[in-house]
Amino acid sequence: MPKESMRLEKIPPYLFEEIDRKKREAINKGVDIINLGIGDPDQPTPAYIVQSMQKAVENSQNHDYPSSNGEIDFRKAVVDWYHSRFSVSLDADKEVTCLIGSKEGLSHLSLAYIDKDDIAIVPSPSYPVYKMWTLMAGGDPYFVPLTRENDFLPDLNKIPEKVINKAKIIYLNYPNNPTGAIAPSSFLEKTVNFAKENDLLIVYDNAYCDMTYDHYVAPSILEIDGAKEVSIEFASLSKSYNMTGWRIAMAAGNEKAIKALRVIKSNVDSGQFKAIQQAAVSALNSDGSDIKRHNEIYTRRRDILFAGLKSLNWPLKDPPKATFYFWIPVPGGYDSASFASKLLESCGLVTVPGNGYGDAGEGYIRMAITVSEDRIQEAIDRMKNAGIRY
Ligand SMILES: *Cc1c(COP(=O)(O)O)cnc(C)c1O
Repeated sequence: MPKESMRLEKIPPYLFEEIDRKKREAINKGVDIINLGIGDPDQPTPAYIVQSMQKAVENSQNHDYPSSNGEIDFRKAVVDWYHSRFSVSLDADKEVTCLIGSKEGLSHLSLAYIDKDDIAIVPSPSYPVYKMWTLMAGGDPYFVPLTRENDFLPDLNKIPEKVINKAKIIYLNYPNNPTGAIAPSSFLEKTVNFAKENDLLIVYDNAYCDMTYDHYVAPSILEIDGAKEVSIEFASLSKSYNMTGWRIAMAAGNEKAIKALRVIKSNVDSGQFKAIQQAAVSALNSDGSDIKRHNEIYTRRRDILFAGLKSLNWPLKDPPKATFYFWIPVPGGYDSASFASKLLESCGLVTVPGNGYGDAGEGYIRMAITVSEDRIQEAIDRMKNAGIRY
């Protein structure tokens, strides 16, 4: 067998091996695991979306190759959604494309912009795709820390001039995975100006824009004046419509960036199944009542976990206003990995060690509220009984 590519060698070792092994051991021993580790909705896709798919699948006109760019009906639905949701105007032909999940789009965008030795500015902690695909494209990620002190927003002033000069992309993701943080519009404005001054493309990952609580409404970067000159945004049906398995998402924004992404995509995939695109159209055109219902479920769970952690002395300021994640500092004497192990071994709780999202995630674990209220309360009770406090 020939040697694998340099590209594969650049992929850092998998950090969750140990915790995965411990999880398997616990399951094999018959431990009643509460899995707070997965960022995947536990509720089903709304019935009308499934029905729309059923109908579309029966139509033989949907059985041929789609265009890799997305059907015009899908792109128009995206344009309408952006208009009603964010008051952002887009051109369905030039400023929108259909994706096989935003992970697909984010990864391929790296190939469209990053050459050897180019830099991408990547928040730490963050969704691993930004770092991995910068590396796979031959570039170098430059990590900007997201800390509790800076409200999990990168400090743009601290990025050295020589990094900025070689940088092409800055990744942003608010509402944020894994920290649950949100970004004020003033920060988005600052970043748009920063990108203009420094000839950067903002890659804005808006996967959680509709998973919000307490009347918080998350913005699109494209709402900011002039943002379209320097930004591409990724939005997804995965989280808000419980459609992670369907693989349907969209990119919107700068015409050149969309075009560059399309060139890569058209040489890789042949688009998403038309029936899935039609189901997505029915979701995007819906009245938003499922999103409201899902967010009410998450709000109740969030309040139970927040109250529970507070009762165990955790120094949490406010409950997260968006996403289904809690970013929790580990108690003294632990690091991310050892605390995640402790929760698994003493309480049967699966969580994710924060350092898996970047070095600046050390000292945190991530819990996802993707289990029922009862199970969240049970998780807190188990921690209490095991004497685990902050
Ligand atoms: C879940 C998630 C996505 C969505 O990915 P899809 O490929 O659209 O399912 C994108 N970005 C972040 C940060 C996520 O957590």
